[in-house]
Amino acid sequence: MKTITYFFLLLFCYLPSLTWSQKIDKQTLLQDVQYLSSDKLAGRATTTEGNELAANYIISRFEELEITSQYPDYIQHFTLSEGTEGRNIIGFIPGTSSSQIILLMAHYDHLGKKDGKIYHGADDNASGTATLLNLAAYFMENKPSHSILFAATDAEEMGLLGAKALLHDFPFPLKQIKLVVNMDMISRSEENTLYAVGTTFYPQFKRYLEKAGKRSPVELVFGNDGGKGELDWTNASDHGPFHKKKFHSFISVWQIMPIITSLLIPSRTSNRHFIYKPVSLY
Ligand SMILES: [Zn+2]
Repeated sequence: MKTITYFFLLLFCYLPSLTWSQKIDKQTLLQDVQYLSSDKLAGRATTTEGNELAANYIISRFEELEITSQYPDYIQHFTLSEGTEGRNIIGFIPGTSSSQIILLMAHYDHLGKKDGKIYHGADDNASGTATLLNLAAYFMENKPSHSILFAATDAEEMGLLGAKALLHDFPFPLKQIKLVVNMDMISRSEENTLYAVGTTFYPQFKRYLEKAGKRSPVELVFGNDGGKGELDWTNASDHGPFHKKKFHSFISVWQIMPIITSLLIPSRTSNRHFIYKPVSLY
């Protein structure tokens, strides 16, 4: 998590790099992860009551921060394949000196219950969602140069449907997007490693990540971009639809849009004890 925070500092606005870790509210971060992965939310599967509670929690945090949005009540509604509805929760902080946008994403849905067992999804992806909320709090206090669109996405587990809806109905011209950062499963690793996926395609960001990695107790690993002998995580989470778009019509637009996703392995199952991992990394 510390790696991530330095990484954001370097990428987003080049603020003095020691300020972030001093200002992040560890207690709030932990509370966010705890609530989102609690029994009450029952794994946050899309269309369930637990998912709605998670959405309402994210909305209430955005309201507390007085963050703006292009969507009424922060909700971007989208239709699911079976005729039901998903909800992305969108916040926005205008940049102080740029109309370019950094899209920061983390999915808040998870698997819900299977065979009577709750899959709490503390790591996947209460960790990314909590980080999104705490970055929003930070950047409300420390206004970024570029605008930041904070997207807590729904229905990732159903096939990246929230991200696809966001791409399809993006509230600004897509050419304004400078960078996409997706956070998925960032609170756990037995190997103490954190993956940054996408630098094969967007090598201009590697040096910032390397700097961040050197300052962190977590080992930052590059790759899993689908190269020879590598795993391919380029479509493994909500960055996928944005990455794929590059290969279609808007080449000139998408060339300037890097996708960096940070994934900690393993796993899709959860354990509420994971929630202490992000905090212990500070
Ligand atoms: Zn995930």
